[in-house]
Amino acid sequence: MKYTQERNASAEISRLALQKMAVQLAALNPMSFAVWYEHVSGINPELSGKIEDLLREHSKLDDGQIEQLYMDYVSECGSKIQLTLREDLKLLLGKLNQLTAEADKQTSDYGNTLHDFGEKLKHDVSVSELDLLVKDISRDTDKMHASMQQMHEELEASHHEVERLNKEMEILKGAAMTDPLTGVLNRRGFESNAEALFTNPEASSPKGHCLLMLDVDHFKRINDTYGHLLGDKVLAAIANTLRIKVQGQDIVGRWGGEEFAILLPNTNLDGAFAVAEHIRQAIERGKIRRLDSNANIEGITISIGISFRKKEEHLQDLIERADKALYTSKKEGRNRITILD
Ligand code: GH3
Ligand code: MG
Ligand code: MG
Repeated sequence: MKYTQERNASAEISRLALQKMAVQLAALNPMSFAVWYEHVSGINPELSGKIEDLLREHSKLDDGQIEQLYMDYVSECGSKIQLTLREDLKLLLGKLNQLTAEADKQTSDYGNTLHDFGEKLKHDVSVSELDLLVKDISRDTDKMHASMQQMHEELEASHHEVERLNKEMEILKGAAMTDPLTGVLNRRGFESNAEALFTNPEASSPKGHCLLMLDVDHFKRINDTYGHLLGDKVLAAIANTLRIKVQGQDIVGRWGGEEFAILLPNTNLDGAFAVAEHIRQAIERGKIRRLDSNANIEGITISIGISFRKKEEHLQDLIERADKALYTSKKEGRNRITILD
């Protein structure tokens, strides 16, 4: 664990971190706390250097800058892991290159030895010379066999290493495409999955595809009334509802802020409307426990816009129409669904 400070020291660091956090423009959320905690405790010199550079230029740091600092210097899924992976990969490639060179040399030596034996056999040889020759061939073949065996084992080990790196790469890719607050895909992950679906010739979709854009109604009020932390909890709960209400092949993502997107593959407008209505009702009925008491917050609603994908249409155009539909839902009173096919 990178945080080794004991309780009293960590309390003091937390106090100082909160002081620093409080004078910035950025929201007071756990991400921001982690940035300031690591800075104040001095455990992350690269982060501290970057913060000092930024503070020379801007007197106060905003949400975007804090998020960038978090991703670049604090998050375990960020560049540090990428750097380690890259170093591991370099080492592995070096090892494989060495192995290949060694294998080349051994095979060529062995080839030369066999050639020499062949040359000797062209002339008359006595039984004792033949006996010696056979012994030599046998010795060199054993040597070759042993070194091939060793190379095989080393290749096997490298193969395991490649598999390990592959798994780490998958985790890294997953983290880069997942929204940490809600656990659903982030915008990049959503776009990447949707594009993959659109370009996959095997994906049969006789019913076509539909896109839902969802936006929490008056979310600013929820933040203002109950605090940003509870706002975050609401977003995580909403994402969870979305996940529950869709099927396996459906793609759910956080488009940004309090906005979500869902792509429903092989679903016509009737089907998409039914899914949207289930989601709308589930959220309207949902309750979220307040942080400061046992009471629940009720009356959270979302507005939804739906678009139907025209032949070969790009994701961006599909999103634009769903966004327009969403805007109509907002204009006409919120907590409703609009279709723009
Ligand atoms: P509307 O019904 O028109 O959508 O109103 P709204 O208040 O939801 O919309 P507006 O765009 O004015 O405000 C969105 C708010 O969402 C403002 C922003 O601070 C908040 N927000 C965005 N991302 C997050 C987040 O990650 N956590 C929290 N707690 N709030 C967020
Ligand atoms: Mg919005
Ligand atoms: Mg909103």
